[in-house]
Amino acid sequence: MTTPARCYCASSISHSSSFLGVCVKVACVGGGPAGLYLSILLKRQDPSHDITVHERDPEGSTYGWGVTYWRGLLDELHARDPESARAVEEHSVRWNQGVAHVRDLVTRQPGDAGHGIGRHKLLEILTARARALGVRLEFEREITPDELPEADLVVAADGVHSALRTRHAQHFGAALTPGRNPYVWLGTTKVFDSFTFAFVETGHGWIWCYGYPFSADRSTCVIECAPETRTGLGLDRANDADGTARLEGLFAHILDGHPLIGRASGDGGAPWLTFRTLTNRTWYRDNVVLLGDAAHTTHYSMRREPPSPWRTPSPSPTPCGSAPSCRRPSPATSATVRRPC
Ligand SMILES: Cc1cc2nc3c(=O)[nH]c(=O)nc-3n(C[C@H](O)[C@H](O)[C@H](O)COP(=O)(O)OP(=O)(O)OC[C@H]3O[C@@H](n4cnc5c(N)ncnc54)[C@H](O)[C@@H]3O)c2cc1C
Repeated sequence: MTTPARCYCASSISHSSSFLGVCVKVACVGGGPAGLYLSILLKRQDPSHDITVHERDPEGSTYGWGVTYWRGLLDELHARDPESARAVEEHSVRWNQGVAHVRDLVTRQPGDAGHGIGRHKLLEILTARARALGVRLEFEREITPDELPEADLVVAADGVHSALRTRHAQHFGAALTPGRNPYVWLGTTKVFDSFTFAFVETGHGWIWCYGYPFSADRSTCVIECAPETRTGLGLDRANDADGTARLEGLFAHILDGHPLIGRASGDGGAPWLTFRTLTNRTWYRDNVVLLGDAAHTTHYSMRREPPSPWRTPSPSPTPCGSAPSCRRPSPATSATVRRPC
């Protein structure tokens, strides 16, 4: 194992820090937004760091549709890495108001500004930037807890179902609370001009949709309801085509004749899931640090500056001391996060 003369923890990353001449070997497990963005920040901090991102899926494949963010996050991205921030901003769409449809009532809230970007595009931008900075990217490389890469710092950025965290769930104090309501993450060719909430009352209870644009020709539609509403509407038994057609009928007033789409690749529907709220008592164990959704999740209904996975590695440029302490990251990495509602 490489033993650096001095090292700086994931909790002490800043674009402005310049502790050069120390080669720290970092292995990021997971090439989602959190793992990729951390690798960018570390390389910017010191190009001599030896950083590898291990991603189990092929390059360019990811789940989901668009993601939203707000101006405050974009400002932070510009401050930390202007180059990727410019690309993210350039490929994002913007809106300036929120609109709520409740039965026949439509309420608009001007000034409710936000941004949306396709998850594929976001990862493409972060991947290209990491590569340009000299981060080693290994796709189709799954890491198991039994064969952790040799590194001074191993970053578990392997998502909410993190195998690295699960192996030591008791140490981390991991608590996974399944949500009650099922939701389905869909796309549509309807391009909303605002962040759109639509609440529809059915004979089996309410069903609602969060819609937001993320490109010039696509929007995201996350549809959610109580379990008994889903059963009452037959959505738990319907095949992909019938289920999608039923949802298109229920939300016809906001879709304007546009279809709902199950998967970006076009082959099949999207699964109904329940959101899992994850918290951990601590975010590190020896030289393994949890990052992004592996450390905490944020419910998609939290629209105001949630603790984004891009924001996790934060801010002070303070060195965390000698090599051994690098394997015991500072308590800053285990800071309490706001609980999702
Ligand atoms: C319906 C829904 C809507 C959302 N909307 C938004 C939004 O609008 N804005 C927002 O900011 N967030 C949103 N989120 C949350 C956002 O998607 C996550 O916070 C974000 O993806 C977390 O990034 P991550 O890198 O930590 O994990 P992930 O994106 O899950 O990435 C983890 C990566 O690790 C890889 N991996 C897993 N295990 C291994 C292994 N053993 N070896 C190698 N690789 C591995 C996976 O393939 C994956 O690529 C939403 C989530 C949901 C469910």
